[in-house]
Formats: sequence, C-alpha cells, structure tokens
Amino acid sequence: MNDAKLFFDNIKNSKNICLVSHKNPDGDSLGSLLMLNEYLKNINKQVDVFVEGKIPYNYETFISKDTIKFEYDNIKFYDLLIVLDCGDESRLGIFSRIINNSSKIICVDHHVTNTNFADINIVDSDISSTGELLFKLFKAANKEITKKMAEYIYISIITDTGKFTYSNTSGETYKAVGELVDLGIDILQINNNLYNSKPIKIVKNFIQIISDIEFYYNNRFGIAKVTQAMLLENKMNMDDIDGVVEFIREIKEVEISCIIKEINSNEVKVSLRSKNDIDVSEIAKTYGGGGHKRAAGFTFNKSIEETKNEILGTLKTILGE
Ligand code: 5GP
Ligand code: MN
Repeated sequence: MNDAKLFFDNIKNSKNICLVSHKNPDGDSLGSLLMLNEYLKNINKQVDVFVEGKIPYNYETFISKDTIKFEYDNIKFYDLLIVLDCGDESRLGIFSRIINNSSKIICVDHHVTNTNFADINIVDSDISSTGELLFKLFKAANKEITKKMAEYIYISIITDTGKFTYSNTSGETYKAVGELVDLGIDILQINNNLYNSKPIKIVKNFIQIISDIEFYYNNRFGIAKVTQAMLLENKMNMDDIDGVVEFIREIKEVEISCIIKEINSNEVKVSLRSKNDIDVSEIAKTYGGGGHKRAAGFTFNKSIEETKNEILGTLKTILGE
C-alpha cells in the first residue's frame, strides 16, 4: 500500500505535527485524533491536537487533561498537518487557518464528499470510519498498535458504524475489531462509557424533542426541531443533543429522518439520515454540506420553519406521491 509508505515517511520527516478534524467532534473524529496523537507521542514527535466545539459528555472520560487544545494562536508553524475525518477545509472551522501555516498537509478521511484539498489525500469512502482507515495504514506499514491506540480505533469504528449496524460495516471491519479485542481492550467498560452514561437531564430533553416529531409523505419523512428557547429552558447545550435523528429513523415507515438545530434566528444546522437507498449526501451537497450516503448534514441561513419548508420541497420529488 503506497499510501501507508507516504503517510509514515512524511511523519518520519516531520518534527512538529498538528492534528485536526471537523468541528463539533464525534466518535470517529475524536477516536482517530486520539489514536494518532498516542502514536506520535510514543515516537517522540511534538504534537498539537485541535478541536473546535464541545467534547460530548460520553467521550470525556477517554481524554486526558491537556491532550486537546481549543484555541490556536496563529503564530505556530507545522512541518506536517494531518487532517482526520474531514472532507473539506470549511469543516475545519476556526482551524482551517492552520492550512496556511503548514509545510505539508495529509488528509485521512472516508467522506464520499471529500474534495481532495490536501497535498496527500488518503480517502476511502467505502471504509467504515477514519479509525478503520488508520488501522489499515498501520497494518500495511507493520506498525505496532498498542492497547491504548486500539481503544481509540474501537471508539471510531463502533460509533461510525452505529454499533456495527450500518452498511459501512464490512468483513474487514469485523476482522479489525477482532484484532482490537485481542489486544485486550475492555469493550464492556468502553461501551458503558459511550452508551450507558446519559445524564437524566439529557434524556428528559430528548423525550421533549421526540414528542414533537412531525411526519410527512406518508410517514416516510420524520423531522424534529431543537430551538434555542428549548435549550435555555432545560439548561442544555446544543452539543448535548445526540441520537435524535437516528431514533427517528428507527420508526418503521420512516425512510429519511431529519433534525433541525437552531443556531440563531437565521442559522440552523441540519442532519439527515436515510434507511435504504436514498443518498442524503447528495441532498446535503446541494446546500453546501456533505457527508455519507445515509448520514449527512449542512448549515443553512434560514429560520427553522423556512428550512423545514425548503427540505420538504426538495424531498417532494424524492418521497412525494
Ligand atoms: P451530523 O448530521 O451527525 O452532523 O453529520 C453526519 C455526517 O455528515 C458526518 O459524516 C458529517 O461529517 C457530515 N456533515 C455534517 N454536516 C456537514 C456540513 O455542514 N458539511 C459537510 N461537508 N459535511 C457535513
Ligand atoms: Mn467518520
């Protein structure tokens, strides 16, 4: 695998390395950042890891203090910038500036909408997660994967495959996970931290959001909304909202599910999920977003209601009678 040689040769030739991923971190972005950080620290590289946005509560326990920085001072230059799990520069948010301050950029990613913006693009949209892609690179180069690194890869894979239920879960994915388990990772403890640790407040808020789901097109489209007022009332952050759009997809009739999150009165974040063959990344792309076939998103400069009507209009040709 040429990619693996390129990847590790560039690491070898760099002293100062920066790791970044997309804003508003998820399991795969954090898992792959932490995994690679662990490796680079082990081989004595100087590493900075940047994340824009709040770390979701269920990942906090996996991250030791000071591992992640949330602000970049604009002065520091890097020999190598490695962008993980991020398909385009704009998704880097405030850290897209680091691109201009780096001699070389490598992107390791699995988004079908990846724009090949880096100097070296190691992109495989058929693979479950960026964590699995890193696993493959390490195996191809015969590099040791420690137990700690294995834990982080496992977090990437289990979260991006929806606990091994999405169609991106391949035989290779299961084989990789088999190897990770054999390295001694404690899957019960990791899974409990990831999935059985919801604060009561978050569950109550979830129920409130779910109780207002609307259905359209013969129940084939289900949509929920989160307003700033609701967050204020429940003393919650938008980052605490998780799993709603996947929950709506669990409904038998639903083919496409959606959640609209109000950022402010004129800006929303939309998440789309599909169950079968409808490619929601195509829909997201028409609004400047992206993602995967069955999970995609975009930001839109309209109110919640206007956005909902816009999406309903777009879906009419796909789901309408
Ligand atoms: P989520 O809906 O959970 O935010 O994201 C689902 C998938 O779509 C993820 O793979 C995420 O990276 C991608 N995605 C979400 N929002 C955007 C966006 O605004 N732009 C792009 N390019 N991808 C997005
Ligand atoms: Mn991912």
